[in-house]
Amino acid sequence: MDPPAQKFGHEVDFRRKTTLGVALVGLLFLTPFAINNFFQGRHFLGAGSLAIVAILAVNAWGISRGRYYPSLTSLVLVPAILFFLVLSVRTQGIVGALWCYPAVLAFYFMLPERKAWIANVFLLGLALPQVWGVVELSLAARVAVTLLAVSVFSAIFIRVITDQQEKLQAQAVMDPLTGLLNRTLLRESLEQAVMQSIRSGVPMTLVNLDIDHFKAINDSLGHDAGDTVLQGMGEVFLKRVRRVDKLFRQGGEEFLALLYGTDWENGQRVAEDLRYAIASYAFLPDCPVTVSVGVATLLPGEDWRKWMKRSDDNLYRAKSGGRNQVVA
Ligand code: GH3
Ligand code: MG
Ligand code: MG
Repeated sequence: MDPPAQKFGHEVDFRRKTTLGVALVGLLFLTPFAINNFFQGRHFLGAGSLAIVAILAVNAWGISRGRYYPSLTSLVLVPAILFFLVLSVRTQGIVGALWCYPAVLAFYFMLPERKAWIANVFLLGLALPQVWGVVELSLAARVAVTLLAVSVFSAIFIRVITDQQEKLQAQAVMDPLTGLLNRTLLRESLEQAVMQSIRSGVPMTLVNLDIDHFKAINDSLGHDAGDTVLQGMGEVFLKRVRRVDKLFRQGGEEFLALLYGTDWENGQRVAEDLRYAIASYAFLPDCPVTVSVGVATLLPGEDWRKWMKRSDDNLYRAKSGGRNQVVA
């Protein structure tokens, strides 16, 4: 099953939450040490750690108010942490190196996988030579090996969690029979399309399809034959519609295609193309299958409900007009 158009990434949402977690934990644990640095006369290190505390606070404040800037993490926070780690090892030796361990984990939680890898390579490359400089070789080697181990464990852990999350997410929004999206994201997708159209002026078209006399296929050939037809529908749609478009199985034998950047004329052409492809497709031997289709292009000022309703009304007209036809 390969439904490229039907992918939804909630990766950013996941990162947003874990970045908030890192920020709160970081604030809790780093702040006392940052303040203590000043009491101990380590002003430079104190300033460095306070700068990190400040960025963590901005991150936590921003995210809790619904503003998340991933570039603040990757372009400001991570370099600041790397700088702090080098400074910390130089100032405090092996004690300073202890901060490398939470930093490795924090990078995996805050950054996309590839960036986390890169940040950790930098961390090891920058911090370890400093450790080498301040402690004897055998201890430095142990720090290197344990840091590497924590880094690899974290990488594996994050990979497994991400895989699992993607799988669950796909299961939640996909229809297993056809490989199309189920209704879960329908409303959200239509709302987003309306917003996008308002912002950028691109046309959006809905193609609403319903199999004709599907009950008769079930009744005469059995439920499994009906399922074969539904499966075939998924194949036809995924083959005929572009990757950017979204395809939904709305219910039993009802489908909806959301066509981005498609005006009325092109939408009608796609609908006709789909209708024809289905009518000529051999779903079952000696059993032609047809669909009725309603097309609606988003009108200025229209909300998603009205837009959807118009495509439904047109579908109804296609049914009452004799089926196996497009009404746009
Ligand atoms: P019309 O041309 O007016 O659309 O007639 P129809 O028979 O297609 O419409 P109706 O809504 O009466 O029948 C839909 C049928 O779809 C009824 C239901 O048993 C069947 N159905 C719904 N979900 C599934 C499914 O997952 N698999 C199978 N095989 N049948 C399903
Ligand atoms: Mg129906
Ligand atoms: Mg039907």
